[in-house]
Amino acid sequence: MILFLTYHRVCADAKFAQDREFYAVSRSTLAQHLRDLIAAGMSPLDLSTLSTSADQTSRRCYLSFDDGTQDHCESVLPLLQEFNLRAVFFVPTAKLDQPGRLTRSQLRELADAGQTIGCHSHEHKRMDTMSAGEIRRQFDTSQKILRQETGAAPWIFAPPGGFINSAVCAAALDSGLRVIRTMRWGFNRQPDLTALETVPLNRHTTDRQFQKILAGRQSRFLYLGKQAAKALVPARAYERLRALAFRAARTN
Ligand SMILES: [Zn+2]
Repeated sequence: MILFLTYHRVCADAKFAQDREFYAVSRSTLAQHLRDLIAAGMSPLDLSTLSTSADQTSRRCYLSFDDGTQDHCESVLPLLQEFNLRAVFFVPTAKLDQPGRLTRSQLRELADAGQTIGCHSHEHKRMDTMSAGEIRRQFDTSQKILRQETGAAPWIFAPPGGFINSAVCAAALDSGLRVIRTMRWGFNRQPDLTALETVPLNRHTTDRQFQKILAGRQSRFLYLGKQAAKALVPARAYERLRALAFRAARTN
């Protein structure tokens, strides 16, 4: 099993309540997840071990942070350093130096700290509907900028929004990328390095769900179904529905 966890923005605790982004988690939640992973003997590994290890029997964990937001340098990097951990940061290069995004110097800081920088296209647009020429342009431009800024060619790719088809996959491999992390939900029980599954965390993920994810026991449908319900139904109505369901289960 390869547990590939995907995070997006990591908010300062004081700002988390106001943040509306579904995929945002608070800094203290991320810190707790890291402690839980280490306690469970699944300390996240350096990404370089991903492409070399053929061992499919052990339980391994990798961390990814998507979309190149500023907090990845300001909050996530210090936390990773505190725990002496490595992750991959998937950075859409057209967004560099935009408000709220990593600056070029922050990108270099992440790379210099030994973190892996992954290709996430140039513009972060859906790629499976692009022409062959446009797909190539997205890869060429983003890889050129990442090489310029970090001094290293990226070798791992995550398609923006998780949208991928055989043309995007072939173009990625053609451009020199070797590993692809999709947004397909799963635990990589039979890992395919060109189509790795992931478990994305979001603001509604509970401690209990995280423990189940760690154990590889979380059901995708239960997890996503409950999260969707929480995102769609106002919080108080959701709690009322839950209380009703709980009472019904007790009386039956
Ligand atoms: Zn993205």
